[in-house]
Amino acid sequence: MGVLASMEKQGYEQVVFNYDRVSGLRAIIAIHDTTLGPALGGVRMWPYKSEEEALTDALRLARGMTYKSAAMGLNLGGGKAVIIGDPRTDKSEELFRAFGMFVETLKGRYITAEDVGTTTDDMDIIKGYTEHVVGLSGTSGNPSPVTAFGCFRAMQACAKYVFGEESLAGRKVVIQGVGNVGYYLAKQLLEAGAQVYVADLYTDRTERAAELGARVIPCDDVFDQECDIFAPCALGGVINDETVERLRARIVCGSANNQLLEDRHAEKLADRDILYAPDFVVNGGGLINVSFELAPGGYDREQALAKVSRIYDILLKVFQIAEERGIGTAEAADRLAEERIRKALEQNRIYRPSA
Ligand code: NAD
Repeated sequence: MGVLASMEKQGYEQVVFNYDRVSGLRAIIAIHDTTLGPALGGVRMWPYKSEEEALTDALRLARGMTYKSAAMGLNLGGGKAVIIGDPRTDKSEELFRAFGMFVETLKGRYITAEDVGTTTDDMDIIKGYTEHVVGLSGTSGNPSPVTAFGCFRAMQACAKYVFGEESLAGRKVVIQGVGNVGYYLAKQLLEAGAQVYVADLYTDRTERAAELGARVIPCDDVFDQECDIFAPCALGGVINDETVERLRARIVCGSANNQLLEDRHAEKLADRDILYAPDFVVNGGGLINVSFELAPGGYDREQALAKVSRIYDILLKVFQIAEERGIGTAEAADRLAEERIRKALEQNRIYRPSA
């Protein structure tokens, strides 16, 4: 499908391409929806094999940001940028200067941030050329502990829904991937009295978690462990035809993006009476945290954490929608986001007809 046909089919507002002849920057910014506010989404730097692959990624990620921001109750839309290049070898001051100037041409319709392959240092360069950047050094800081806190609150909501009480004390939780988020999640769970089992490809990661009191299991065993909660905190696509049959958990709730290989795997989980906490609701804490850099008074950690804590209520609302409408939890999360956008659009039409 061509770019314009994809935009039409999935309701994208704008896709902008940029080539800078000085630095060699090749970048794409995709803006999916700005009904709720400017489109916030990170800039990913990746050695894409083709422009098509980069575009597909930008479009997919931008749309995901619309849903995440809407579900988190933020007044932000969804967008994403990609830079085609190898972050280990192709970075330069000129490249990020060009990217900053490119962002500036959109006059605030798109706000950029860190993502895979980009760092706070890169954001600091971009900041010299546009106001529309967050995730700077010395501001909201490392998002991972905050994402982990949101995931912890999501687990409490799941426990409340399934077991009737939110306490995680004594619950058995299996965490797949104890990297940035998984480590902080393990820490909070252990402090709350949960029994935590962890697996990771790297022993330095599991050793770090073991020092906290977590029990280490082989990577391949995560799906076969009988447990209360399975927490995917590594890569996407882990819930698939093979693993869904193996899972022996009551709840799937983790930070990884795109946990379901395909939408139909949500139904398969439901058929096995496993509660699925939609990933973009569970892992919205990092986005909430960085969005507080845009608050009028500047970033305030306490306020950001208070908002992240509300992931608990958002998730219970998702479960309620699913129950009332007889739909799956993943679909219910989509409906929650879409309805917030639809209502805002209608009110914009009434009260801001010229906007
Ligand atoms: P990370 O790279 O620091 O950690 C991921 C860990 O998973 C690594 O330690 C890796 O070795 C391990 N891993 C990979 N494949 C594995 C496998 N098959 N079995 C066991 N372990 C495996 O990443 P992160 O920042 O902790 O993010 C984790 C997930 O959460 C990612 O999917 C990310 O997109 C998502 N996420 C993160 C944030 C954040 O604030 N960091 C925010 C939103 C979503």
